[in-house]
Amino acid sequence: MVYLDHNATTPVLPDVAQAMAQALARVGNASSVHALGRDARRSVEDARERVAVLAGARPAEVIFTSGGTEANNLALRGTGRERVLVSSVEHVSVLDAVAGVATVPVPIPVDGDGVVDIGALEALLAAAPGPALVSVMLANNETGVVQPVAKVAEAARRFGVLVHCDAVQGAGKMPLDMASLGVDLLTLSAHKMGGPQGIGALIVRDGTPLKPEARGGGQERRRRAGTENVPAIVGFGVAAAGQGVAEAPRLRRLRDDLESRITRVCGGARIFGAGAERLPNTCCVSMPGVASETQIMALDLAGVAVGAGSACSSGKVEPSHVLAAMGVAPEQASTAIRVSLGRDTTEDDVSTFLAAWTGLYKRLGEPHDSAVPAPAAA
Ligand code: PLP
Repeated sequence: MVYLDHNATTPVLPDVAQAMAQALARVGNASSVHALGRDARRSVEDARERVAVLAGARPAEVIFTSGGTEANNLALRGTGRERVLVSSVEHVSVLDAVAGVATVPVPIPVDGDGVVDIGALEALLAAAPGPALVSVMLANNETGVVQPVAKVAEAARRFGVLVHCDAVQGAGKMPLDMASLGVDLLTLSAHKMGGPQGIGALIVRDGTPLKPEARGGGQERRRRAGTENVPAIVGFGVAAAGQGVAEAPRLRRLRDDLESRITRVCGGARIFGAGAERLPNTCCVSMPGVASETQIMALDLAGVAVGAGSACSSGKVEPSHVLAAMGVAPEQASTAIRVSLGRDTTEDDVSTFLAAWTGLYKRLGEPHDSAVPAPAAA
């Protein structure tokens, strides 16, 4: 199978798997005071340091969580702000985090490429001064569009409000430094960077107010109760030190080549977010006249795994709120797929995908230019 769905999850790196297997073979609760417990604690703290380095933070600022979703929920609910401004292209774990609590979520609009409108954010902040939290992601999971987070933070700081950044997709694919971003809280998830699923972190700048969601033991400096998942944390630490950013130029070349070959085959294919800065590995593209589900199933049969351009939690493809926020018409959004490359992606993988994509387009797609024959009448 050619795997081109790295924004959904990445293969676990071999050295991550090895370190986790070793950790699984050991016994010890990181809170126990005996030697085995202290060994477990040491493993957790080594990993914390590596994760802190990845984000340009201090180890004490790292709170391990069960993943990006929990970290986003903790950031949005734990800071206790009743006014939360979130970009309209955020991941559902940010958009839904404040559902059912007193907090009023205010959507920040984006432009046609999916980039947050800083002027609109400033107007929203000026319209209702007072304690608030702004949450804007580093890079979008569907389109790969990179947000101007440093500018968002600068604007927010002028109004004295807290800033959270969901860096789940950007981390390991682009340089990351919490201090230069200027944010107070930052979310990470291990399985998007060669680590295991079910482990992530919320990094909280010293002095930022945060009430725990999970209460019980005093783990994670009383900010997240529960026995630490030592093997997963160890794997996260190894993945965080994995230098994924070094792959960026190669992936960008492959992705750009893929996109130019697609548009040569089909002039009507639209690459979403193409006018903005994007992650080097991500391509969200429409195939005129062919539903996303049809494409995904046909590509799957051809041995190629890609993602829907939209949230696909129960196997059913829902309309994309990201593309809708960018002003994409529902008919066009329903023909989008997401192709996301990773460290293991080769030129051959891209060619296999293109052959399958082109074959499908020629069979079922709406003809757009003379190079493509009209599909046979049904
Ligand atoms: N934020 C973004 C941007 C994501 O892409 C994802 C996962 O797809 C998450 C948060 C959730 O992370 P996790 O799968 O670790 O809960």
